[in-house]
Amino acid sequence: MSAVLPSPADSTPASRRPIRELPDELISQIAAGEVVERPASVVRELVDNALDAGARQITVRLLAGGVRLISVEDDGQGIPASELPVALRRHATSKIASLYELETVGTMGFRGEALAAINSIAELVLHSRTADMHGGGDTTAWSLDGRSGELKPVARAVGTTVEVRELFFATPARRKFLKTDATELAHCLEAVRRHALARPDVGFAVWHEGKLVEQWRPSASTEARLADAIGEDFVTRSVTVDHRVGAVRVTGRAGIPDAARSRGDQQFFYVNGRFVRDKVLSHAVRSAYEDVLHGQRQPVYALYLEIDPARVDVNVHPTKIEVRFRDGREVHQAVRHAIENALAAPRAGQGVNAPLAEAATPLPAFETKDPAPMRPWSQPAMQFVASERLGLGDSAAMWPTRAYERPSAVAPFFDTPSPSLPPTNIPATAKPQVPSDGETWPLGRALAQLQGVYILAENAQGLVIVDMHAAHERIVYERLKTQLEGASIGSQPLLIPATFAATPQEVATAEACAAVLPALGMEITPFSPKTLAVRAVPSTLADGDPVELARSVLAELALHDASTVVQRAQNELLGTMACHGAVRANRKLTLDEMNALLRQMEATERSDQCNHGRPTWRQVTLRDLDALFLRGR
Ligand code: ADP
Ligand code: MG
Repeated sequence: MSAVLPSPADSTPASRRPIRELPDELISQIAAGEVVERPASVVRELVDNALDAGARQITVRLLAGGVRLISVEDDGQGIPASELPVALRRHATSKIASLYELETVGTMGFRGEALAAINSIAELVLHSRTADMHGGGDTTAWSLDGRSGELKPVARAVGTTVEVRELFFATPARRKFLKTDATELAHCLEAVRRHALARPDVGFAVWHEGKLVEQWRPSASTEARLADAIGEDFVTRSVTVDHRVGAVRVTGRAGIPDAARSRGDQQFFYVNGRFVRDKVLSHAVRSAYEDVLHGQRQPVYALYLEIDPARVDVNVHPTKIEVRFRDGREVHQAVRHAIENALAAPRAGQGVNAPLAEAATPLPAFETKDPAPMRPWSQPAMQFVASERLGLGDSAAMWPTRAYERPSAVAPFFDTPSPSLPPTNIPATAKPQVPSDGETWPLGRALAQLQGVYILAENAQGLVIVDMHAAHERIVYERLKTQLEGASIGSQPLLIPATFAATPQEVATAEACAAVLPALGMEITPFSPKTLAVRAVPSTLADGDPVELARSVLAELALHDASTVVQRAQNELLGTMACHGAVRANRKLTLDEMNALLRQMEATERSDQCNHGRPTWRQVTLRDLDALFLRGR
């Protein structure tokens, strides 16, 4: 390699050198630069190969996070001795032979680059044995040393082991970029996990420094593998996705909004079995969660897209982690609808209602036997006349109805008045079909505030518990959204501008976004080079802390491109703003204020959930309460 590197004297323009073809080894090293970033990249390529060879069990052994050794052993079909040297050659592949095959490739690899590239930057040894099926296979195993080219017989079962030692030994600069062994190990594990989630039928084991660190046995279903390789939680807090439009099918699991995380570390997307990171796909997922997830929160998911291989190009990136769809819009829609449908689908006996399930523990009757479809992660929407009058009624179609709308479901409990409570003490519920004025409100009449967090209210069915902050946040959010859709958010100038010491980033964002801030009802101007002044805030949020609001809006704006931010990041922005405008826990509310909040909830679209996807209220029915006290049994 050193022979072709220019010495400083050579590289002066005066001494032009003739055009030459690069030597093979250097070409492979250049290719390695694209394919092999760190040990995990090698793991990925070797596991790809093992899966292509039909392995049922793959064992990865690592030393020093993979830097000193990566060994991947499989029980696949093996490589005949005569082909071992070919396997290490550049552009040598058994997987495609024609352009037609390239367009419909079904294997993980096809570029014939990985082994050659790895061999050029590490010490590679191949051990392999093919099955002796018709006497044509190898009766012994062979090993090939990638450096010396020495081929010698060894003992091993059918399958292949690739050993890669001293990665980047020839390129110490790259080796320096590697992180600690623990970090590299984590990346290697993630590489194996990505494969494992696509192939539940294959067993995987990872050893580090002689210790077994992960093991996933072959399992019958994707669900089982997901539970095994990500965690039980992932499965219990997600819903099944299964959606087909035309030739596109999307399956897998989508996390409930409540399961969203601060990091996008549980987002797995596969296209025809290949793990990908793709803008079209992630945007489609994002938009499906748009209205139930606050900006920074990352949904969790494991989704599998199946599509005619001819409609997707997997050969656009050396590591094949990116793809290009012939019809991006078709795929975008399919993915978006798949998730939206899944999140809106009936619960159908899936154990996904984590928040409710917790609440249900002390309240056995909480688990309604009501066959009405339920939104999986929260209570079904309340239905209210007001919304229909306001033209917001399409929520009725989207959101299923609940038991209390059919008074017959609760009526039997009032036929047998309890001996200790005179019937008159159960207001209006004795005749649930004809409620008196106060009880026509779906969320009832406020009774009290509990621990500064919850509002307790009484309606015809029993007790309503409202998460005050979450509910108010949704109301503010929807109000801001309606205003913004109208034109711009109503603004209120501050009599005395609120100034604050700003970071250079905040000052820069305020300047770059000076034109879009008014649409958000805000005015933030430089006061001094290091100080910003908040001069106006949305009138809806006038009671909040203007500096905190300004800071978080600027932080949100900084994440986006200034010119289009209001269109693209609307929901995130409004979510951030709403969070600041909403009543804080521990604020004492009067009964009137509580009732006002309940009425606003009833008149607000989607107020069943805060914009982080958590429920804003729960109904505890008299039946639930009776069960608590073992009454009427
Ligand atoms: P590609 O996977 O793109 O074909 P590679 O350089 O990764 O290129 O591998 C070259 C060839 O070596 C493969 O096409 C395959 O025939 C063979 N090969 C590599 N690894 C294995 C394995 N674990 N089992 C069987 N054959 C393998
Ligand atoms: Mg390969």
